[in-house]
Amino acid sequence: MKEVILVKYGEIILKGLNRSKFEDLLIRNIKKVVGRENILSVRKAQAVIYIEPAPCCDTDTMMEKLSKVFGIVFIAKAGVFAKDMDTILTDGADYVCESMYGAKSFKVEAKRSDKKFPFNSPEISREMGGAILSRIHPLKVDVLNPEVTVRVEIRDNEAYVYADSASSKGAGGMPTGSSGKATILLSGGIDSPVAAWMIAKRGVELDAVHFFSPPYTSERAKEKVIELAKKVAEYTGRFNLYIVPFTEQQLAIRDNCPEDHLTLIMRRMMMMAAERIALKNNSLALITGESLGQVASQTIHALGVTNEVMTTIPVFRPLIGMDKDEIVTIARKIDTFETSILPYEDCCTVFTPRHPTTKPTLEKIMESQNKIDMEYWVNKAVEETDWVLIEPNS
Ligand code: ATP
Ligand code: MG
Repeated sequence: MKEVILVKYGEIILKGLNRSKFEDLLIRNIKKVVGRENILSVRKAQAVIYIEPAPCCDTDTMMEKLSKVFGIVFIAKAGVFAKDMDTILTDGADYVCESMYGAKSFKVEAKRSDKKFPFNSPEISREMGGAILSRIHPLKVDVLNPEVTVRVEIRDNEAYVYADSASSKGAGGMPTGSSGKATILLSGGIDSPVAAWMIAKRGVELDAVHFFSPPYTSERAKEKVIELAKKVAEYTGRFNLYIVPFTEQQLAIRDNCPEDHLTLIMRRMMMMAAERIALKNNSLALITGESLGQVASQTIHALGVTNEVMTTIPVFRPLIGMDKDEIVTIARKIDTFETSILPYEDCCTVFTPRHPTTKPTLEKIMESQNKIDMEYWVNKAVEETDWVLIEPNS
């Protein structure tokens, strides 16, 4: 008996004439993520990708990996049968009953995309329901609240049968690589990995920059950021992390600028350096984990002053309208939360003013900023930047 993984995708369907370009990119990403050696064949037809796993392949691991591939909305492991009602009701029913052990109630949902098949969907559901009832006792049909839903899909070449317990939701979004590249400012906090994931989900390839200030920030803090980056890479595939030494810059700001403006001048310097690193590496935008009003440097006034340094590329702030608990929900879902809350310091927090300004004006900040040579410090940070290739954890 043959089993395949059915992969269904979402928005790609709306891409009109470009659709097959997106489908081919998605197939390339799938092969990269699950490993070519684990695939016997892949084909696409009628908005479904059919993956036939190699005999040695662990299909549960394959399903788990596929659940992190952007562009996929649904994945199922299905038995493949001849498009013949007798076969479906015998071999198909035997197959699906194996995964229904212990179930008390079920329903069957049939779908017939081949309209030439001689039975319509309600007829297939009814017949398959009967075949399953004759195999498992006690079991009852419950169309409103079934424990298990069995699906029978009559498609172009064959019939596919599976229980919904052998299926899962995909990560959604668009295939990685379909929307250019952007650079995430990645701290060790909760927010920026979520921001990275949200923009990557829209098909954007990532680069990341991290600012660190030894000895004020420790080696462990840097490792934590690398660990977070690896978790994001489980969704995006490998990416570059640029590590920017920022100690001297922060000391220059601390020693020369008014205390209540320290954070904003530092954030402006970070954005300038990140923009230059992004441009050098063909990124088309910066991404941050800022959320309106979350901290003093994220008031509408402060964000305006920070953003003013941007000269060439846009800044995306996908969390701008989200509450912390909404951000945490996503952080848990993508499994970055537990790492993010490890208690290591971030360079943003080591020189925090006691009373940071919340309603800065550009004029005042410029007056403070002019006490140091921004251009010199930004260039130095970019020149001394280091590089790490981030590979996914598994
Ligand atoms: P996060 O939880 O992502 O650290 P935050 O709420 O702590 O965010 P800030 O510390 O003000 O907020 O930082 C705002 C954004 O600036 C972060 O989301 C991140 O994009 C960027 N950022 C902060 N610190 C760093 C850093 N050390 N390296 C790179 N980017 C940083
Ligand atoms: Mg932070």
